[in-house]
Amino acid sequence: MSEQRVIAGNWKMHHGPSATRTFFRDFAPDLGESAPTLIIFPPALSLAAAVESRGGRPEVHLGVQNIHWEEKGAFTGELSVSMVLDAGATYALVGHSERRHVFGETDGEVALKVGACVASGLTPVVCVGETLEERRGGRLEEVIERQLEAALEGLTARPGAHFMVAYEPVWAIGTGETATPEDAAGAHAVLRSVLRKALAEDHAEEVPILYGGSVKPGNAGELLSTAEVDGVLVGGASLDAESFARIAESV
Ligand code: PEP
Repeated sequence: MSEQRVIAGNWKMHHGPSATRTFFRDFAPDLGESAPTLIIFPPALSLAAAVESRGGRPEVHLGVQNIHWEEKGAFTGELSVSMVLDAGATYALVGHSERRHVFGETDGEVALKVGACVASGLTPVVCVGETLEERRGGRLEEVIERQLEAALEGLTARPGAHFMVAYEPVWAIGTGETATPEDAAGAHAVLRSVLRKALAEDHAEEVPILYGGSVKPGNAGELLSTAEVDGVLVGGASLDAESFARIAESV
């Protein structure tokens, strides 16, 4: 279990610059002493609006939803690590299930992206998770172990680099189906043991492992009180400032 508590919001392809400004105007969680790390992943086009409008709010870190491993060049539509750092992002989602399953991102590409992030000081949040078919076929462990081991190949040049893992069962993303706290605890324990095998002892314990998949204000508290769950990665319920604030307050 990591000491760090993390509440992250993935806006996917929602909230352009105007809606981003409105979100930050309204986002006012009452965090008391809990002070989780708050991260929002807006569309890259809305990063500048987020940087401008987050001032005066509790500290909110910003990230991008995808990244390319090359520094620059003929890669139409892609963003490099140095560009997004320059624009004010400090995190990147890597291997989100929509990138893997809609856009065909491979384990090898995930490793390249992780490598590019850690080489330049952008913190990757590596997403892993099984499909319903894989789960029903008894392959949950095999799939998430393979995905995380492949992503860790990207750390070879920077073995102590800061990163996070998000367990996001594909069947729970955007479906209203949430893994039970026991399901999340079991999968997180598998991921922690992969980290323990691959990394130095202290480092393996420090890496936050987040749960994602239909997290809402009504279920966040129970998930976050599960010892193996260090934080949550929230999609739909992070779009509304009030609902995301209530999730942040559940820590
Ligand atoms: C996500 O997009 O990472 C996610 C977990 O989505 P949702 O919360 O909508 O299931």
